[in-house]
Amino acid sequence: MSTHFFDLDREQLRSFVVEHGLRRFVADQLQEWVYQRGVTELDRMTNVSRRDRERLGELVHFESARLLTERRASDGTRKLLLGWTGPTVEPTGNGLSLLEPASAGETECVMIPAGDRRTACISSQVGCPVGCRFCASGLEGLEGNLTRGNIVEQAWRLGRMAGVGRITNVVFMGMGEPLVNFPGVVGAIRTLNASWGLGIGARRITVSTVGLPAGIRRLARFELPVTLALSLHAPNDELRRQIIPWADRSTIEELLEACTEYFRESGREVTLEYILLGEVNDRPEHARELAGLARSLRANVNLIRYNEVEGLPYRRPVSADVHRFQSLLRERGVNVHIRASRGRDIDAACGQLRHQHRREQG
Ligand code: SF4
Repeated sequence: MSTHFFDLDREQLRSFVVEHGLRRFVADQLQEWVYQRGVTELDRMTNVSRRDRERLGELVHFESARLLTERRASDGTRKLLLGWTGPTVEPTGNGLSLLEPASAGETECVMIPAGDRRTACISSQVGCPVGCRFCASGLEGLEGNLTRGNIVEQAWRLGRMAGVGRITNVVFMGMGEPLVNFPGVVGAIRTLNASWGLGIGARRITVSTVGLPAGIRRLARFELPVTLALSLHAPNDELRRQIIPWADRSTIEELLEACTEYFRESGREVTLEYILLGEVNDRPEHARELAGLARSLRANVNLIRYNEVEGLPYRRPVSADVHRFQSLLRERGVNVHIRASRGRDIDAACGQLRHQHRREQG
Protein backbone atom coordinates (compact mmCIF):
# COMPACT_ATOMS: atom_id res chain seq x y z
CA MET A 1 0.00 0.00 0.00
CA SER A 2 1.23 3.46 -0.87
CA THR A 3 2.52 5.75 1.93
CA HIS A 4 1.24 9.27 2.57
CA PHE A 5 4.19 11.54 1.78
CA PHE A 6 3.26 14.16 4.39
CA ASP A 7 3.38 11.62 7.22
CA LEU A 8 7.17 11.30 6.97
CA ASP A 9 9.91 13.60 8.23
CA ARG A 10 13.28 13.98 6.52
CA GLU A 11 15.00 10.96 8.07
CA GLN A 12 11.93 8.75 7.77
CA LEU A 13 11.60 9.53 4.07
CA ARG A 14 15.31 8.83 3.50
CA SER A 15 15.03 5.45 5.26
CA PHE A 16 11.81 4.71 3.41
CA VAL A 17 13.25 5.25 -0.07
CA VAL A 18 16.42 3.29 0.75
CA GLU A 19 14.32 0.36 2.03
CA HIS A 20 12.54 0.38 -1.32
CA GLY A 21 15.69 0.29 -3.42
CA LEU A 22 16.17 4.00 -4.18
CA ARG A 23 19.14 6.14 -3.25
CA ARG A 24 18.92 8.33 -0.17
CA PHE A 25 19.26 11.65 -2.03
CA VAL A 26 16.05 10.91 -3.97
CA ALA A 27 14.17 11.59 -0.72
CA ASP A 28 15.75 15.06 -0.47
CA GLN A 29 14.95 15.78 -4.11
CA LEU A 30 11.34 14.79 -3.56
CA GLN A 31 10.96 16.96 -0.45
CA GLU A 32 12.46 19.93 -2.24
CA TRP A 33 10.01 19.61 -5.11
CA VAL A 34 7.02 19.30 -2.84
CA TYR A 35 7.76 21.76 -0.04
CA GLN A 36 9.96 24.37 -1.75
CA ARG A 37 8.45 24.36 -5.22
CA GLY A 38 4.90 23.16 -4.52
CA VAL A 39 5.14 20.41 -7.14
CA THR A 40 3.73 16.92 -6.61
CA GLU A 41 3.42 15.81 -10.23
CA LEU A 42 6.25 13.32 -10.52
CA ASP A 43 6.73 13.89 -14.25
CA ARG A 44 7.61 17.53 -13.53
CA MET A 45 10.50 16.52 -11.24
CA THR A 46 13.10 16.87 -13.95
CA ASN A 47 16.18 16.09 -11.85
CA VAL A 48 14.75 12.72 -10.76
CA SER A 49 15.40 9.86 -13.16
CA ARG A 50 12.44 8.34 -15.00
CA ARG A 51 13.01 4.98 -13.28
CA ASP A 52 13.00 6.63 -9.83
CA ARG A 53 9.87 8.63 -10.65
CA GLU A 54 8.02 5.48 -11.68
CA ARG A 55 9.05 3.77 -8.46
CA LEU A 56 8.01 6.78 -6.35
CA GLY A 57 4.63 6.73 -8.09
CA GLU A 58 4.10 3.22 -6.70
CA LEU A 59 5.38 4.07 -3.24
CA VAL A 60 3.92 7.43 -2.20
CA HIS A 61 0.80 9.50 -2.60
CA PHE A 62 0.32 13.17 -1.73
CA GLU A 63 -3.40 13.69 -1.37
CA SER A 64 -5.25 11.68 1.25
CA ALA A 65 -8.49 13.65 0.96
CA ARG A 66 -10.96 14.48 -1.76
CA LEU A 67 -11.86 18.12 -2.26
CA LEU A 68 -15.62 18.19 -1.58
CA THR A 69 -16.28 21.94 -1.71
CA GLU A 70 -14.30 25.10 -2.26
CA ARG A 71 -15.69 28.53 -1.35
CA ARG A 72 -14.22 31.95 -2.03
CA ALA A 73 -15.27 35.00 -0.05
CA SER A 74 -15.30 38.51 -1.42
CA ASP A 75 -12.46 39.46 0.97
CA GLY A 76 -10.15 36.79 -0.50
CA THR A 77 -10.74 34.18 2.21
CA ARG A 78 -10.83 30.67 0.75
CA LYS A 79 -12.32 27.67 2.46
CA LEU A 80 -12.00 23.98 1.61
CA LEU A 81 -14.10 21.08 2.78
CA LEU A 82 -11.95 17.94 2.57
CA GLY A 83 -13.23 14.37 2.72
CA TRP A 84 -10.62 12.05 4.24
CA THR A 85 -10.37 8.44 3.21
CA GLY A 86 -10.52 5.70 5.81
CA PRO A 87 -7.02 4.35 6.30
CA THR A 88 -5.47 7.78 6.75
CA VAL A 89 -7.54 8.68 9.80
CA GLU A 90 -6.02 7.19 12.92
CA PRO A 91 -7.88 5.60 15.75
CA THR A 92 -8.05 8.06 18.62
CA GLY A 93 -5.01 6.71 20.50
CA ASN A 94 -5.23 9.39 23.15
CA GLY A 95 -7.00 7.80 26.04
CA LEU A 96 -10.49 8.40 24.66
CA SER A 97 -10.77 4.72 23.92
CA LEU A 98 -14.54 4.63 24.12
CA LEU A 99 -14.72 6.37 20.79
CA GLU A 100 -14.81 4.41 17.58
CA PRO A 101 -11.96 5.01 15.13
CA ALA A 102 -13.08 7.12 12.22
CA SER A 103 -13.37 5.34 8.92
CA ALA A 104 -13.85 8.55 6.96
CA GLY A 105 -14.99 12.06 7.62
CA GLU A 106 -14.83 15.67 6.54
CA THR A 107 -12.94 18.63 7.93
CA GLU A 108 -12.55 22.25 6.94
CA CYS A 109 -9.52 24.44 6.41
CA VAL A 110 -9.36 28.12 5.56
CA MET A 111 -6.79 30.43 3.97
CA ILE A 112 -7.06 34.01 5.21
CA PRO A 113 -5.05 36.67 3.37
CA ALA A 114 -4.12 39.92 5.13
CA GLY A 115 -1.42 42.14 3.62
CA ASP A 116 1.69 39.97 3.19
CA ARG A 117 0.26 37.25 5.41
CA ARG A 118 -1.32 34.06 4.19
CA THR A 119 -2.72 32.34 7.26
CA ALA A 120 -3.83 28.72 7.11
CA CYS A 121 -6.49 27.85 9.68
CA ILE A 122 -6.38 24.07 9.93
CA SER A 123 -8.16 21.21 11.69
CA SER A 124 -6.62 18.64 13.99
CA GLN A 125 -9.51 16.20 14.35
CA VAL A 126 -12.58 14.95 12.50
CA GLY A 127 -15.37 16.45 14.60
CA CYS A 128 -14.54 17.58 18.10
CA PRO A 129 -14.92 15.96 21.52
CA VAL A 130 -15.45 19.24 23.38
CA GLY A 131 -18.89 20.14 22.03
CA CYS A 132 -18.96 23.88 22.77
CA ARG A 133 -22.60 24.85 22.68
CA PHE A 134 -22.15 27.61 20.10
CA CYS A 135 -20.00 25.64 17.63
CA ALA A 136 -21.01 23.57 14.62
CA SER A 137 -17.83 21.45 14.72
CA GLY A 138 -18.68 19.62 17.89
CA LEU A 139 -22.32 18.88 17.08
CA GLU A 140 -21.68 15.25 16.22
CA GLY A 141 -18.82 14.61 18.63
CA LEU A 142 -15.36 13.29 17.81
CA GLU A 143 -14.97 10.85 14.93
CA GLY A 144 -11.20 10.51 14.91
CA ASN A 145 -7.81 12.16 14.92
CA LEU A 146 -6.13 13.49 11.82
CA THR A 147 -2.64 12.13 11.24
CA ARG A 148 0.48 14.27 11.01
CA GLY A 149 0.23 13.92 7.24
CA ASN A 150 -3.45 14.92 7.12
CA ILE A 151 -2.66 18.08 9.09
CA VAL A 152 0.35 19.09 6.98
CA GLU A 153 -1.60 18.34 3.81
CA GLN A 154 -4.16 21.01 4.69
CA ALA A 155 -1.54 23.78 4.92
CA TRP A 156 0.15 22.51 1.80
CA ARG A 157 -3.10 22.38 -0.19
CA LEU A 158 -4.12 25.87 0.87
CA GLY A 159 -0.75 27.26 -0.25
CA ARG A 160 -1.03 25.47 -3.54
CA MET A 161 -4.33 27.03 -4.58
CA ALA A 162 -4.10 29.33 -7.56
CA GLY A 163 -2.99 32.84 -6.63
CA VAL A 164 -2.21 32.07 -2.97
CA GLY A 165 1.55 31.48 -2.78
CA ARG A 166 3.42 30.49 0.36
CA ILE A 167 1.58 30.07 3.63
CA THR A 168 3.22 32.39 6.20
CA ASN A 169 1.23 31.58 9.35
CA VAL A 170 -0.67 28.58 10.65
CA VAL A 171 -3.34 28.54 13.33
CA PHE A 172 -4.81 25.37 14.82
CA MET A 173 -8.26 26.90 15.12
CA GLY A 174 -10.23 24.68 12.79
CA MET A 175 -12.11 21.60 13.80
CA GLY A 176 -10.97 19.68 16.87
CA GLU A 177 -9.09 20.19 20.12
CA PRO A 178 -5.40 20.09 19.14
CA LEU A 179 -4.07 19.05 22.55
CA VAL A 180 -6.20 15.90 22.47
CA ASN A 181 -4.38 14.85 19.29
CA PHE A 182 -0.94 15.68 20.66
CA PRO A 183 1.25 13.31 18.57
CA GLY A 184 -0.42 14.29 15.29
CA VAL A 185 -0.25 18.00 16.07
CA VAL A 186 3.38 18.20 17.27
CA GLY A 187 4.49 15.99 14.38
CA ALA A 188 2.76 18.34 11.94
CA ILE A 189 4.27 21.40 13.65
CA ARG A 190 7.74 19.92 13.16
CA THR A 191 7.10 19.57 9.41
CA LEU A 192 5.50 23.03 9.14
CA ASN A 193 8.53 24.55 10.88
CA ALA A 194 11.40 22.50 9.42
CA SER A 195 13.79 24.06 6.90
CA TRP A 196 13.22 20.98 4.70
CA GLY A 197 9.44 21.40 5.19
CA LEU A 198 7.28 24.50 4.90
CA GLY A 199 9.77 26.66 6.86
CA ILE A 200 7.16 28.53 8.93
CA GLY A 201 8.66 30.10 12.09
CA ALA A 202 7.48 28.68 15.43
CA ARG A 203 6.14 32.09 16.45
CA ARG A 204 3.95 32.12 13.38
CA ILE A 205 2.31 28.85 14.41
CA THR A 206 -0.52 29.18 16.94
CA VAL A 207 -2.06 26.32 18.87
CA SER A 208 -5.49 27.29 20.12
CA THR A 209 -6.90 25.16 22.91
CA VAL A 210 -10.10 25.19 24.88
CA GLY A 211 -7.91 24.49 27.86
CA LEU A 212 -6.49 21.24 29.17
CA PRO A 213 -3.95 22.03 31.90
CA ALA A 214 -2.00 18.76 31.40
CA GLY A 215 -1.89 19.32 27.64
CA ILE A 216 -0.70 22.92 28.05
CA ARG A 217 2.12 21.73 30.34
CA ARG A 218 3.05 19.06 27.84
CA LEU A 219 3.20 21.65 25.07
CA ALA A 220 5.39 23.83 27.31
CA ARG A 221 8.00 21.04 27.17
CA PHE A 222 7.82 20.74 23.35
CA GLU A 223 11.03 21.92 21.69
CA LEU A 224 9.40 24.61 19.52
CA PRO A 225 8.09 27.79 21.20
CA VAL A 226 4.83 28.07 19.31
CA THR A 227 2.20 30.66 20.24
CA LEU A 228 -0.44 29.41 22.66
CA ALA A 229 -3.97 30.78 22.52
CA LEU A 230 -6.41 29.86 25.28
CA SER A 231 -10.04 29.89 24.18
CA LEU A 232 -11.54 31.18 27.38
CA HIS A 233 -14.91 32.51 26.13
CA ALA A 234 -16.20 33.22 29.65
CA PRO A 235 -14.67 35.11 32.59
CA ASN A 236 -15.94 32.82 35.36
CA ASP A 237 -16.36 29.09 35.87
CA GLU A 238 -20.12 29.15 36.12
CA LEU A 239 -20.71 30.82 32.76
CA ARG A 240 -17.90 28.83 31.18
CA ARG A 241 -19.54 25.55 32.17
CA GLN A 242 -22.76 26.68 30.51
CA ILE A 243 -21.15 27.12 27.10
CA ILE A 244 -18.17 24.71 27.17
CA PRO A 245 -18.98 21.20 28.43
CA TRP A 246 -15.30 20.43 29.15
CA ALA A 247 -15.08 23.42 31.47
CA ASP A 248 -16.10 21.16 34.34
CA ARG A 249 -12.78 19.32 33.96
CA SER A 250 -10.71 22.22 35.25
CA THR A 251 -11.21 25.65 36.74
CA ILE A 252 -10.12 28.89 35.14
CA GLU A 253 -7.57 29.24 37.95
CA GLU A 254 -6.00 25.88 37.01
CA LEU A 255 -5.92 26.91 33.36
CA LEU A 256 -4.21 30.19 34.14
CA GLU A 257 -1.60 28.38 36.26
CA ALA A 258 -0.82 26.09 33.31
CA CYS A 259 -0.60 29.13 30.99
CA THR A 260 1.80 30.84 33.41
CA GLU A 261 3.99 27.74 33.23
CA TYR A 262 3.78 27.88 29.43
CA PHE A 263 5.00 31.48 29.48
CA ARG A 264 7.84 30.62 31.88
CA GLU A 265 9.04 27.63 29.81
CA SER A 266 8.60 29.00 26.30
CA GLY A 267 9.04 32.74 26.84
CA ARG A 268 5.91 33.23 24.73
CA GLU A 269 3.05 35.41 25.91
CA VAL A 270 -0.28 33.64 25.93
CA THR A 271 -3.27 35.08 24.07
CA LEU A 272 -6.79 34.80 25.44
CA GLU A 273 -9.43 34.20 22.77
CA TYR A 274 -12.94 35.31 23.63
CA ILE A 275 -15.92 34.73 21.35
CA LEU A 276 -18.54 37.37 22.05
CA LEU A 277 -22.00 35.80 22.11
CA GLY A 278 -24.78 38.39 22.03
CA GLU A 279 -26.17 38.99 25.55
CA VAL A 280 -24.53 35.85 26.90
CA ASN A 281 -20.93 36.81 27.73
CA ASP A 282 -20.69 40.35 26.35
CA ARG A 283 -22.02 42.33 29.34
CA PRO A 284 -19.93 45.01 31.09
CA GLU A 285 -19.50 42.84 34.20
CA HIS A 286 -17.98 40.13 32.01
CA ALA A 287 -15.49 42.62 30.55
CA ARG A 288 -14.43 43.72 34.03
CA GLU A 289 -13.93 40.12 35.18
CA LEU A 290 -12.02 39.25 32.01
CA ALA A 291 -9.75 42.27 32.48
CA GLY A 292 -8.74 40.94 35.90
CA LEU A 293 -7.83 37.54 34.46
CA ALA A 294 -5.92 38.99 31.51
CA ARG A 295 -3.91 41.28 33.77
CA SER A 296 -3.01 38.48 36.18
CA LEU A 297 -1.64 36.49 33.22
CA ARG A 298 -0.28 39.54 31.37
CA ALA A 299 -2.10 38.14 28.36
CA ASN A 300 -3.33 39.85 25.22
CA VAL A 301 -7.01 39.41 24.46
CA ASN A 302 -8.54 38.73 21.05
CA LEU A 303 -12.25 39.41 20.83
CA ILE A 304 -14.10 37.48 18.15
CA ARG A 305 -17.61 38.37 17.06
CA TYR A 306 -19.67 35.22 16.88
CA ASN A 307 -20.83 34.09 13.44
CA GLU A 308 -24.30 32.63 13.78
CA VAL A 309 -24.83 28.93 13.07
CA GLU A 310 -28.19 27.77 11.79
CA GLY A 311 -30.02 25.74 14.40
CA LEU A 312 -27.98 27.02 17.37
CA PRO A 313 -29.50 29.55 19.77
CA TYR A 314 -26.63 32.05 19.96
CA ARG A 315 -26.50 35.30 18.08
CA ARG A 316 -23.92 37.78 16.89
CA PRO A 317 -23.29 40.62 19.37
CA VAL A 318 -24.27 44.14 18.35
CA SER A 319 -21.38 46.43 17.43
CA ALA A 320 -21.97 48.90 20.27
CA ASP A 321 -21.62 46.09 22.83
CA VAL A 322 -18.43 44.82 21.20
CA HIS A 323 -16.82 48.28 21.32
CA ARG A 324 -17.94 48.90 24.87
CA PHE A 325 -16.46 45.51 25.87
CA GLN A 326 -13.17 46.43 24.24
CA SER A 327 -13.10 49.88 25.90
CA LEU A 328 -13.67 48.40 29.35
CA LEU A 329 -10.67 46.11 28.86
CA ARG A 330 -8.51 48.93 27.47
CA GLU A 331 -9.37 51.21 30.38
CA ARG A 332 -8.00 48.51 32.65
CA GLY A 333 -4.69 48.33 30.80
CA VAL A 334 -5.35 45.20 28.74
CA ASN A 335 -3.94 44.89 25.23
CA VAL A 336 -7.10 43.92 23.34
CA HIS A 337 -8.01 43.57 19.69
CA ILE A 338 -11.25 42.83 17.90
CA ARG A 339 -10.47 40.19 15.34
CA ALA A 340 -11.79 41.14 11.92
CA SER A 341 -14.58 38.87 10.77
CA ARG A 342 -13.33 37.17 7.66
CA GLY A 343 -15.22 35.27 5.03
CA ARG A 344 -18.67 35.80 6.52
CA ASP A 345 -20.23 35.33 3.10
CA ILE A 346 -18.85 31.76 2.88
CA ASP A 347 -19.92 30.56 6.32
CA ALA A 348 -16.39 30.78 7.65
CA ALA A 349 -17.43 29.90 11.19
CA CYS A 350 -15.78 26.66 12.19
CA GLY A 351 -17.70 23.56 11.13
CA GLN A 352 -20.51 25.28 9.22
CA LEU A 353 -19.61 24.03 5.78
CA ARG A 354 -19.33 20.45 6.99
CA HIS A 355 -22.60 20.77 8.86
CA GLN A 356 -24.35 21.94 5.67
CA HIS A 357 -22.66 19.29 3.54
CA ARG A 358 -23.85 16.50 5.86
CA ARG A 359 -27.39 17.79 5.85
CA GLU A 360 -27.42 17.92 2.06
CA GLN A 361 -26.09 14.36 1.88
CA GLY A 362 -28.89 13.29 4.21
S1 SF4 B 1 -15.09 25.76 19.50
FE1 SF4 B 1 -13.26 24.48 19.16
S2 SF4 B 1 -13.16 23.20 21.02
FE2 SF4 B 1 -15.25 24.04 20.95
S3 SF4 B 1 -16.47 22.45 19.86
FE3 SF4 B 1 -15.75 23.96 18.33
S4 SF4 B 1 -13.86 23.04 17.52
FE4 SF4 B 1 -14.30 22.03 19.47
